[in-house]
Amino acid sequence: MCKTSLKKRTVTKFKKSKKRSKYYGGMPIDIPDWVKIKDFRTMDDFKKQCAVNGCEHCRIEWMIEEINEFYEAVSHGNKDDIEDEAMGLIRTYQQFGNVSGVLELWKKVRNHVLEVFSTRDIFDNAFEKWHVKKRKKNQAIGVTSQQLIDISGLSL
Ligand SMILES: [Zn+2]
Repeated sequence: MCKTSLKKRTVTKFKKSKKRSKYYGGMPIDIPDWVKIKDFRTMDDFKKQCAVNGCEHCRIEWMIEEINEFYEAVSHGNKDDIEDEAMGLIRTYQQFGNVSGVLELWKKVRNHVLEVFSTRDIFDNAFEKWHVKKRKKNQAIGVTSQQLIDISGLSL
């Protein structure tokens, strides 16, 4: 069994931060107070393999890291990076959403993730770029744009 312990902040309530409000495509995305956008990386190869093997702790920890990466990109304001991280977050939810802690985290951030993709074209273009990178690493094989749209609840 994995000895990874989760920090309390993973279950803190959703709060909006007025101070750290950033804008994407004219739509505001307020970075929640419980999100870390600096010095947040905790997932190493061991933990990632542990998550793939089914460890709930590591799945939740990975989801938190993906969420932090998404908001880090939001804070930098680069459109391509924001779309790439949003796609990665949806994929992580697709993989690990059977864990209730991952599902809870997804519910907290889904509205912001969905704001990034206002049209099917934007989504498909972002998916293609993301999927090319993943396939080079032999990852996300067989994952389709439609699957990620369906699981995220986007109506595009
Ligand atoms: Zn683990």
